[in-house]
Amino acid sequence: MSPRQTSPATAGPGHALIDITTRPPTVFVEGQGSWLTDESGKCYLDLVQGWAVNSLGHSPPVIAQALARQAGRLLNASPAFHNRPMLDLAQRLVGLSCFDRVWFGSSGSEVNEAALKLARRWGRRMRGGAHEVIAFDSAFHGRTLAMMSASGKPGWDSLFAPMPTGFAKARYNDITSVERAITPASVAVMIELVQGEAGVNLADPGFVRELRALTTERQLLLIADEVQTGIGRCGEAFAYELFGIEPDVMTLTKGIGGGVPLAALLCKESFNCFEPGDQGGTYGGNPLMAAVGLAVVDTVCQPVFLAQVRQRAAFLARGLQAIVHEHGLVAERGVGLLRALALPGDTAAQVVAAARELQPTGLLLNAPRPHLLRLMPALTITEAEIGQALALLRQALRVV
Ligand SMILES: *Cc1c(COP(=O)(O)O)cnc(C)c1O
Repeated sequence: MSPRQTSPATAGPGHALIDITTRPPTVFVEGQGSWLTDESGKCYLDLVQGWAVNSLGHSPPVIAQALARQAGRLLNASPAFHNRPMLDLAQRLVGLSCFDRVWFGSSGSEVNEAALKLARRWGRRMRGGAHEVIAFDSAFHGRTLAMMSASGKPGWDSLFAPMPTGFAKARYNDITSVERAITPASVAVMIELVQGEAGVNLADPGFVRELRALTTERQLLLIADEVQTGIGRCGEAFAYELFGIEPDVMTLTKGIGGGVPLAALLCKESFNCFEPGDQGGTYGGNPLMAAVGLAVVDTVCQPVFLAQVRQRAAFLARGLQAIVHEHGLVAERGVGLLRALALPGDTAAQVVAAARELQPTGLLLNAPRPHLLRLMPALTITEAEIGQALALLRQALRVV
């Protein structure tokens, strides 16, 4: 065989990968806590944390130990059998939340699809075939075809047409628009209590209470997509606790695995209506990931740990507010350790690049919108590290 040529256009570390996004040339080799190291040995303070998945930071000993212990004992007994970590994690989640039943998957899109199927199954049984789900403008629920339909990203309703139908859109924080979207075919409302990908948009507490009352009155399931907000990210185990309401169904992913693929669908007993064969998944509830989830949940959902998250969040918020004043930025907002910084112009991508390129230490940030920076540090970040991050952020803002 003759060696294949690599064209200059595709040269670089990722030339064997299908292009799905523009990645910097950096190759990361190691992570510890809030820090990442690349192949050249340069260190970065990481406020992205795998897109808010590494709730305990990079390679925390508690996860390394849970993985090693479980890997040497039982990797996968099949989703058709019980295993101890799956049972224990389900029990733990039920104990911590207002829900009674749990199904495990591996990604946010997967459990959101499962929530949709559960709602449709319930609608068929209890509401004469009602099946339509009301979701929100600028929502993000995942990248499978149905979740692209459920999401509110501009263009996503036609990008890979034909798209699954059965979704209506309402305006976030506008209860009248939800009322208008309801038809006899409506079965559920699906909402992120904080819209993460849209740029950390917070639901208004009054709106959420009205939404809970409206969905109860009209016999609609209230599905909370807590894929990004759940498991300590917002300073409570679940974001719904901040609003004083109980959803009927909830999905969890990012934080619960602490970096490994683990997702959960939770529901109240009255919506526990899947029939055998309705739902499944090759890796659902595998003991390896469940053992990690158990270690993460047992660490994060301790009252002392959550109180510390709230303290660190307040410290970060104060620091960001100071930067807003110093640099003439628009605003700082967020809940817990999911925060955003609104810039006066569309320079967020430049700030992200400048922060990454800082020497000798880089800072990793995310720009979910052209004028917006998002910060989602490890829940274990220290005040000293927050101070360092704020100093690096100031430098990056000065460069841009
Ligand atoms: C990340 C995210 C998803 C999608 O999760 P995947 O694991 O990427 O499929 C869904 N909903 C919300 C709110 C998210 O933040």
